[in-house]
Amino acid sequence: MSALRSLDEDIQEVLFDEAALQRRVRELAAELERDYAGLRPLLVGMLRGSVYFLSDLSRALRIPHEIDFMAIAAYGTRHAATGAVRLLKDLDEEITDRHVVLVEDIVDTGLTAAYLTRLLRARRPASLVICTLLDKRVRRIAPNLPLAYVGFEVPDRFVVGYGLDYRQLYRNLPYIGVLRDELLSPGGPP
Ligand code: 5GP
Repeated sequence: MSALRSLDEDIQEVLFDEAALQRRVRELAAELERDYAGLRPLLVGMLRGSVYFLSDLSRALRIPHEIDFMAIAAYGTRHAATGAVRLLKDLDEEITDRHVVLVEDIVDTGLTAAYLTRLLRARRPASLVICTLLDKRVRRIAPNLPLAYVGFEVPDRFVVGYGLDYRQLYRNLPYIGVLRDELLSPGGPP
């Protein structure tokens, strides 16, 4: 059996610690409560990165709401150019005439979010907005994304923790931090 190794050792800088994340999640929940009172919103989480954020957000939200999930995979080079994704798991719920909040861990170029927004809008929800924990605004390519709720803006660095992974690890860190440069494969993360 391999030695028990701490993932914390691979982090060069903590950007948002557990207390800061939990405080911000409560603030976002309070905003959603105000905006969606009586509307029974559907929170749509993108597997797998947004699971931690969505579950904390849902627990902090004291109005009736539902949750659902989608899973997508990026389409290699086509994804880089267009944000096109392959749907691995679709929603279980119908969203026509529903108030939908797309819950994202991070919006980077915004191409994925733009693609998903188009996909979901075609189903005619009553409303559709994005709630993202992190916004890497400096990298944005997609214009006019409906980013109604943003937890924190982040610089152009590769972050992990609180759902965000590097090669499927680090999701369980209770904070968000920057991975040590030497651990990233040459040419940056895949
Ligand atoms: P976008 O289409 O906005 O460029 O990409 C969004 C996806 O890229 C996110 O859902 C996430 O999977 C990945 N991503 C972008 N920046 C980071 C980052 O700093 N850390 C991690 N772990 N994933 C990132």
